[in-house]
Amino acid sequence: MQIVCLDLEGVLVPEIWIEFAERTGIPELRRTTRDEPDYDTLMKYRLNILAERKLGLPDIQEVISSMGPMAGAREFLDALRERYQVVILSDTFQEFAKPLMKQLGWPTLLCHRLEADANGVLVNYHLRMPDQKREAVKRFKELNLTVVAAGDSYNDTAMLGEAHGGILFHPPESVIREFPQFPVTCSYAELRREIDKAFARVA
Ligand SMILES: [Mg+2]
Repeated sequence: MQIVCLDLEGVLVPEIWIEFAERTGIPELRRTTRDEPDYDTLMKYRLNILAERKLGLPDIQEVISSMGPMAGAREFLDALRERYQVVILSDTFQEFAKPLMKQLGWPTLLCHRLEADANGVLVNYHLRMPDQKREAVKRFKELNLTVVAAGDSYNDTAMLGEAHGGILFHPPESVIREFPQFPVTCSYAELRREIDKAFARVA
C-alpha cells in the first residue's frame, strides 16, 4: 500500500502569511522565522497584529479563500489521489487552510489549530506535536505503508529523509545545496513523474 505525504504551502497553495500580508496591506505580517527565530514570539506577534487590526477569523478566512490554490494544483492532486492515498502534512493551522481545502476537494490534512474567542478574535495557537511531519511518516511506515514525501522547504527535509522517497518541489537554492540527495522538481508534471519513479524504486 502506497501513500504520498505532501507539504501544503509552497506546493499546493501560496505561503499563507506572506500572501495574507500582501492582500491585507499589513507588511508586519511578512515577518517569518528567518526574522524572528523564536516561533512562539513570532506567533504571538502575528496574533496581536490581527487583534489590533480587528481581523477576526471570518475576515481572515475570506482573504485566504480569495488566494486560491496554485494553478494546476487541484488537477495534480485529483490525479494523484486516483492512484495513491494522499495526506497533506502542514505546519499551518486548520482554520487557515479550510477555505483552500474546500477548493482542493477536501483532501486529508494534518496540521495545527488556532483558538478563537466567541467574537472570532484569535487568542492562541496550538501545535499538535513537535516534528509532526516526520512523526507522521514514521507512523505510516509502522503501518506497513510505502511513503513518498514532497515539500519545498527546510521544515520538510526531516519528513523527506524519513520517507522511502523524498522529493523537493520549487525549493530555494539554499535547500537544494544543503540537501543534494533529494531530486528537485519545478512543475506538477515533473513532481508526478518523480513520485511514480520513487514508488517504482521501492516496490
Ligand atoms: Mg512549504
